[in-house]
Amino acid sequence: MKINSTAQLVHDLKSGKFKKVFITTHHKPDGDAMGSTLGLMHIMKELGIEAHVVTPTDYSDSLAWLPGNETVTNFEESPEQVKNLLNTCDLIFCLDFNVLSRINDLGLLIGETDKPKVLVDHHQNPEEFYTYAFWNNEASSTCELIFEWARDNFGLETITKDSVTCLYTGLMTDTGNFQYINTRSHTHIVAAQMMEIGVDHVNIHERIYHVFSVTRSRLFGYCLYKKLEILEDCKTALIYLTPEELEEFNVVTGDTEGLVNFGLGIKGIVLSVLIIDRTEKVKMSFRSKGNFRVNEFAGKFFNGGGHFNAAGGASDAPLEEVVATFKREIQAYREELNAISI
Ligand code: 5GP
Ligand code: MN
Repeated sequence: MKINSTAQLVHDLKSGKFKKVFITTHHKPDGDAMGSTLGLMHIMKELGIEAHVVTPTDYSDSLAWLPGNETVTNFEESPEQVKNLLNTCDLIFCLDFNVLSRINDLGLLIGETDKPKVLVDHHQNPEEFYTYAFWNNEASSTCELIFEWARDNFGLETITKDSVTCLYTGLMTDTGNFQYINTRSHTHIVAAQMMEIGVDHVNIHERIYHVFSVTRSRLFGYCLYKKLEILEDCKTALIYLTPEELEEFNVVTGDTEGLVNFGLGIKGIVLSVLIIDRTEKVKMSFRSKGNFRVNEFAGKFFNGGGHFNAAGGASDAPLEEVVATFKREIQAYREELNAISI
């Protein structure tokens, strides 16, 4: 499914109606979130438009090398500066999320302003808070959408090397290095066009995946050795972590990214779940194989959502209770999970 209601917006951007744009993305931004916001910032600058990227929270240091990162404002650190940017901008871009509750208190502020809002996103079920949308739930990533939108409306010459370096990062991370089902021929065409502009894919891969601390590797080892539970009857792998364990391994933002995928690496496992007690909330990550819709499961029991095979959720209940709820509710899906043969 697609929504493209940006014709007037493109016209107004070209005619100079918007002088200053505010670009934001979801809580704890990932590679697609930072890649798309910074990639778009560079494109706006090529169009002669002042552009500012604001994140609702901090994000992994492994993204701090992205061109333009030094200009990003974190709402949690500088709320007054962000309010000022919101008051003085002409247009707000919301990238890689589609419900304002995904951006915490910043969502309340954005919800209150009557400034025009542009949604560019690839998640299911967008909330109708936007004025213009470029949305496609079949797109691999928001970076793919930003690239296509800019290419088709403003021309390839507006997409610089700095911009494609950001945009390729999201294409690569959201497709799991071009392995997930969201990788279409379209995605590879976009990747090829990005490489022609000047993507150094080896360098990007190393900067994203080869930059972690020793303690992060030890955390992964600990989780796989001591914490991994296999729920045989549901073909499910489960890991959960307490705040004490996060402290023991000096876990910083971004350190647990990718951990949930290990469960799916086990032969016969079709659902992998990671539950982390982040103190303010218990956060969960779900990954599945075949036709088990984790976004629906996450939505039904854990106030979450996401994609067909990759979703997340959150709970205010204590960790043990969340784990027990998961183990109980998953039983109803036993037959469905066992029917998946991979
Ligand atoms: P992750 O497990 O990597 O945090 O998230 C996987 C996918 O689920 C991402 O597409 C993300 O946007 C979505 N997701 C993660 N947490 C939540 C949540 O609490 N609510 C919703 N609606 N989506 C989430
Ligand atoms: Mn994304």
